[in-house]
Amino acid sequence: MPSADRPPLLEASLKRWFGFDRFRPGQREVVSDALAGHDLLAIMPTGGGKSLCFQLPALIRPGVMVVVSPLIALMQDQVRLLRDNGIDAAFLNSSLTARESAETTAGLLRGEFKLVYLAPERLLLPEFLSGFLPRLQEAQGLSGFTIDEAHCVSEWGHDFRPEYRQMHRLREHFPDVPVFAFTATATGRVRDDISHQLGLRDPAVHVASFNRPNLHYAVRAKDGRSYGELLERARKRPSHSGIVYCLSRKRVDELAASLADDGIRALPYHAGLSAEDRRNHQDAFIRDDAQVIVATIAFGMGINKPDVRWVVHYDLPKTMEGYYQEAGRAGRDGLDADCLLYFGVGDIRTAEFLIQQKVDPATGAPLEAEQRMAKLQLRKVLDYAESTECRRAIQLRYFGENFNPPCGACDNCLDPKPVEDWTLEARQFLSAIARLAQRNERFGAAYIIDLLRGAETQKLIDRGHQSLSVYGIGKQRSQDEWRLLVRALLHQGLVEEFGDSFPVLRLNEAGRAVLKGERPVTFAVAPQAEKGKRRRGAAVSTDSSAMPEADALFEALRGLRKELADRQGVPPYVVFSDASLRQMAERQPLTSAAFLDISGVGSRKLAQYGAAFTSAIRAFLVEKGLSVPDAPAEDAKAFEIDEANIVDEDLPETVLTTMTLFDRGLSPDQIAAQRALDANTISGHLEALLAHGTAIDISRLIDHARLQAIVGALEKHGVARLKPAWEALGSGVYSYDELRLVRGWLHGRARRPTA
Ligand code: ADP
Ligand code: ZN
Repeated sequence: MPSADRPPLLEASLKRWFGFDRFRPGQREVVSDALAGHDLLAIMPTGGGKSLCFQLPALIRPGVMVVVSPLIALMQDQVRLLRDNGIDAAFLNSSLTARESAETTAGLLRGEFKLVYLAPERLLLPEFLSGFLPRLQEAQGLSGFTIDEAHCVSEWGHDFRPEYRQMHRLREHFPDVPVFAFTATATGRVRDDISHQLGLRDPAVHVASFNRPNLHYAVRAKDGRSYGELLERARKRPSHSGIVYCLSRKRVDELAASLADDGIRALPYHAGLSAEDRRNHQDAFIRDDAQVIVATIAFGMGINKPDVRWVVHYDLPKTMEGYYQEAGRAGRDGLDADCLLYFGVGDIRTAEFLIQQKVDPATGAPLEAEQRMAKLQLRKVLDYAESTECRRAIQLRYFGENFNPPCGACDNCLDPKPVEDWTLEARQFLSAIARLAQRNERFGAAYIIDLLRGAETQKLIDRGHQSLSVYGIGKQRSQDEWRLLVRALLHQGLVEEFGDSFPVLRLNEAGRAVLKGERPVTFAVAPQAEKGKRRRGAAVSTDSSAMPEADALFEALRGLRKELADRQGVPPYVVFSDASLRQMAERQPLTSAAFLDISGVGSRKLAQYGAAFTSAIRAFLVEKGLSVPDAPAEDAKAFEIDEANIVDEDLPETVLTTMTLFDRGLSPDQIAAQRALDANTISGHLEALLAHGTAIDISRLIDHARLQAIVGALEKHGVARLKPAWEALGSGVYSYDELRLVRGWLHGRARRPTA
């Protein structure tokens, strides 16, 4: 039984299976609801740790968890990670041969897997939905349906997949099996749609914060030095993986080639490459054979690489949501990571040009609604790029979340920009608008800038504007500087813009106050106008450890990880995350007990890798001439967790509640009534308790003669499927519940002290 000095049960399971000591925010609540068999909808940001929220319940609840996932690459990745933790998981998809598929389905029926991943197309095939799944349910039970990337069901979402629309059939076919929906993106509308489309029943809704505290945000001027900065970033830390996002395929190819010429292991990725190249480049990145991927936004959906240390946007993203998702591919492991946006005025012109290209392919007429939407989104991105406010606060506000700055991890919070007085220029600009308004003329910003700078364009000459008093009074500022001012005036509400296709500017009350000299105009100098020497965002260095020795050890352990991973043909992060290696480098565990304390080391990892890593650490310390305690006399066994000690720890609370009530003398039916749970659920708990060898008196559940009869039938017909035994016993003379209890009892017999 749990005692005060043991961790709570869920934490014990978390450590045993995944090696983590504590849950990330929100995880525990989601896991508890899933364990209780509630339908649920969980919205958590990328890197929030969604997978564990259904994997842990899958391990604890009786039966098989069916996980629906849209991408083959993601399924394979998750299954590899699970298996490396000693968890029996499988996938069914088109990458398997017919024979492998048949083996997997047979294994599922025999109870060899706790989780199975598959694509919606497969799940909804009639022979699967009405054939295989019911058989699986009968043989092993179904612990739940998990719908990953659940926003794919919604037409309102950005990634709608028609196959997902049929998913409600799961609920119709299996009304008693809980459905768990997970997504990283969902507006209110998409959220309701998911719930509705999947037929969720009174779901527990969990919305985690979208704040990613380990991500550092910064915006820098895009100019002649940007490439050099990027190169230096990649060179300085060759072990730090990064992604560079560009707008066009051409730029991707050019930049990847330049980086490669400069000695960086960089590869391009975009939709113009062959499928094979794309796969190879992605694999190389995932396996740490390539350090940098230069990509269009086509890259990222199918990758789970948790240790991306930086994401650089070399071009302006199209939407804030896009920026958040792309930048969010950094630092999923929870360690510090950098998100940097390079921004230059030229980007605005490019973006505006691309928006103007949005025309009806048949008639060539502008697609006005689309253009308007794209402009609004561009405005939001510019607001972000040019703002002097906390970057995190802006992003979170976009998702409807409040955040109180300073965040301490963005350029604007760490290094506020100097504020300059532009009152004179603002008055010049606004008075130009006023002069033109007197003549009943209105123009957009570009024309007014030309006017102020005394340009000799045909339009200006034709309209006779050269004779206006404001003509040429603004020569002291460049065109770009004037554009900067105009955007600041718009941001601050000192001038208004009207019209969609050719917006014109108009004075308002606030602007008149500026004209009258009643209020000054100041704004922080945006990066491109910044003078003086180059600044380094304080977020560049990502290493928490000050000790160079720990850094060197970290690199050595990375080498070992890569070797072990290559030998098994898996990505290095499957072996251990950077976060685990970092802790090993700092704590330098030399014994199995100390190794088990590392975050990410569970029972399987301890057994599989403990000896290799502790001896590598020892060798490193010896080589450095550091004093090392004598090697403890540990044999291979020391790296195995004593199963007997943990059997009672990985029982979930809900099962223990059932046990407590059973101990008090309640019958299964009474327990079900008191806990408002299904009788089936309670018998599942009892089976689990019996199987764990917990001292449960089976004679209270089933009389001796019946027990004997069932034992006989199960021994004869096997326990993998209950149906043969049930039929042999006379179809219906004994209930499946009874058979399950006895199966649990047989299973646990080996673990019970012999009486
Ligand atoms: P998501 O799918 O939400 O983006 P994942 O489930 O892939 O996130 O988890 C992201 C990373 O965080 C993985 O490397 C995972 O091992 C790690 N992780 C998840 N939960 C925890 C935890 N409680 N403690 C430490 N690391 C965790
Ligand atoms: Zn901030």
